[in-house]
Amino acid sequence: MAEVPEVEIILRDLCEAVVGRVITGAEVLEPASVLFPPIPEFAAILHGREVLDANRRAKFILVTLSGNLILAVHFMLWGTLKLVPANQPPVEETLVILHLDRAEDLRLLDKLGYARTALAEPEILAERLDLGSLGPEALEPSFTVDILAGQLRNRRGVLKSVLLNQRVLAGLGNRDADESLWLAGIAPRRSAASLTGEELFRLQAAIVQVLREGIALRGTQRDLFGRPGGASHRRNIFERNGEPCPRCKTPIARTRIGGRNTHFCPNCQH
Ligand SMILES: [Zn+2]
Repeated sequence: MAEVPEVEIILRDLCEAVVGRVITGAEVLEPASVLFPPIPEFAAILHGREVLDANRRAKFILVTLSGNLILAVHFMLWGTLKLVPANQPPVEETLVILHLDRAEDLRLLDKLGYARTALAEPEILAERLDLGSLGPEALEPSFTVDILAGQLRNRRGVLKSVLLNQRVLAGLGNRDADESLWLAGIAPRRSAASLTGEELFRLQAAIVQVLREGIALRGTQRDLFGRPGGASHRRNIFERNGEPCPRCKTPIARTRIGGRNTHFCPNCQH
């Protein structure tokens, strides 16, 4: 599943292998995957652009192109990017192909077909994708317990749902939120505003640990070059309902919070 660690791995690979190269053409195999501009313009505008830089904001990969343009890519649940020889036949889940120099392709793949891309000048792109409303990045060194406390203060919602709101905190997906709450020993149904100073301290540290471990193991998906990551989706509790909690051996429970499957230990998360 493409959560922030998986997106971050692809981003780092892009910086290593694609920045500095030139896009020589584009093919859209799934029209719904290009949000804007219209498909003929998308391909025409990309032709001849140099890839200058790549960054991440929440789960968006933002590729800076020559001519004051940004190509945004969002993997949704299972999308990814792959760098392959241009003569390799496209697999069925290919949505968009960017032809690069040196006879290679950068391909947007998604077995569910939900991944999306968009192309525009930076200000227009930020406005249309509402990037300005995103909260602080959990992976940035500036993400401190004070930042977390400030973001959760006055939030009436259930903690798990609040943590998934990218306007509150950019960086936690469903899996990483469950793992972070388990690591911190905090129940997902708590009110976000009810956390004590000590609990906030534990939660901030747990979020950073879960994300950094995911990245250190290169995520749970394949990287840009097709190499599998070493992290496990089912790390401690995610999708381990019924199995013993690694900390106290109580069977892990699953419930629905805000429409999302939520895994927790009923004994050692309070
Ligand atoms: Zn437990």
